[in-house]
Amino acid sequence: MKPGNDPKKSRDNGRTAKPDAPIDPYLPRSGNRGYRVSRYELDLTYRVVANRLTGTATVIATTTDARGKFALDLAPTMRVTKLSVNGSRPAKYAQRDGKLVVTPARKIPVGGVLTIVVHYHGTPKPIRSPWGEVGWEELEEGSLVASQPNGAASWFPCDDHPGAKASYRITVTADSPFQVIANGTLVRRTTRASQTTWEYEQPEPMATYLATVQIGNYETRRVSDGPVPLYAVHPPRLKANFDRDFGRQPQMMDVFSRLFGPYPFTHYSVVVTADELEIPIEAQTLSIFGANHCDGSRGEERLVAHELAHQWFGNSLTLSRWRDIWLNEGFACYAEWLWSENSDGPSAHTIAADAHRGLGRKPQDLLLGDPGPELMFDDRVYKRGALTLHALRLRLGDEKFFALLRQWTAEHRHGTVTTEQFTDLAARFADAPLRPLWDAWLAEKALPPMPEP
Ligand SMILES: [Zn+2]
Repeated sequence: MKPGNDPKKSRDNGRTAKPDAPIDPYLPRSGNRGYRVSRYELDLTYRVVANRLTGTATVIATTTDARGKFALDLAPTMRVTKLSVNGSRPAKYAQRDGKLVVTPARKIPVGGVLTIVVHYHGTPKPIRSPWGEVGWEELEEGSLVASQPNGAASWFPCDDHPGAKASYRITVTADSPFQVIANGTLVRRTTRASQTTWEYEQPEPMATYLATVQIGNYETRRVSDGPVPLYAVHPPRLKANFDRDFGRQPQMMDVFSRLFGPYPFTHYSVVVTADELEIPIEAQTLSIFGANHCDGSRGEERLVAHELAHQWFGNSLTLSRWRDIWLNEGFACYAEWLWSENSDGPSAHTIAADAHRGLGRKPQDLLLGDPGPELMFDDRVYKRGALTLHALRLRLGDEKFFALLRQWTAEHRHGTVTTEQFTDLAARFADAPLRPLWDAWLAEKALPPMPEP
């Protein structure tokens, strides 16, 4: 058939040729329209020494409009070798500009099942972004994944946007001396010849940037018998350092569960890599620290609190657009201050006053409620975000403020959130309008005066 002879086909082309509007202006290249993923099943084999990843990804989705083509995010370093849609060969598929574009052989109606099975392989490397290199990264011995905000496509085909949460099964086969840690619960481990297969199930919905695989010569042990099991994963030589630096996590878990509401997952692990890392990073059900954060001096406990708090703020409650990043980082930073005043450190108010003086010396060009992609991980988002919560706490009083936080984590548990949802909920705990407070802290660049009791 000559091109253009099939009227149905040309209509399809006309519609899909139009560029899709970006899901999020902060990351216009990430995320896709036309479907909603409910589950990822990733079956991966990783050769540690060769840094070679071979995978089969099953992406289970429902269509949200009837279109001829669907796109997934996938880095060009991962080459697709075979692909099926709903069990059949697609009409075609192509990889370009970080997208895997799939044309099903038969059109799928709105609300139809869209199951895409992708076979792929490659030498994974992080994706270069304005916020550094993110995604799958080779270590001296092993690998790590730290994807915030757009690194997930470095290791699996996905709809890479935080608003698109799904359940996961992550199965990784690696050479036997290596330990593999992924999100959720280890449900099966089988060793065959010189390789071990690790199967993890993550039933609670998870954002793509929080999906992770950690591979290294690690020792894994349970370090708390409390209601939420805590696990330590680290090179054996760091055991004593870990016990000192992370030794107060059980108390931290108690304090945060009391202040924020029940811990949202079944367990929590901390992975310490043999390599040094610039900053620790949160993933769902675990956090990753570098050997430099585990030197036995307990000098980085603030970061231990920060990463744990992300399990509530960021992981259970995930932002649906990046402009609301203060809902992650402002809350996690305020959790550092709350841990200080609930352990043996200075009060949140003392730390807030310090942070306020620090911000006063910096340029007043940041809009906390919409910082822009360049500034979304700026330290001022963290500090001013925490100060905003402190101002709110002084306005509402402790009883109402912490009741608000618990209500917030309960109402949106395992969901997605926006700033408006938080300010709307806060209004229910206030006797007078909070709008002036939100305007001053979120919608204006000038730093408001230090809130006082
Ligand atoms: Zn953080």
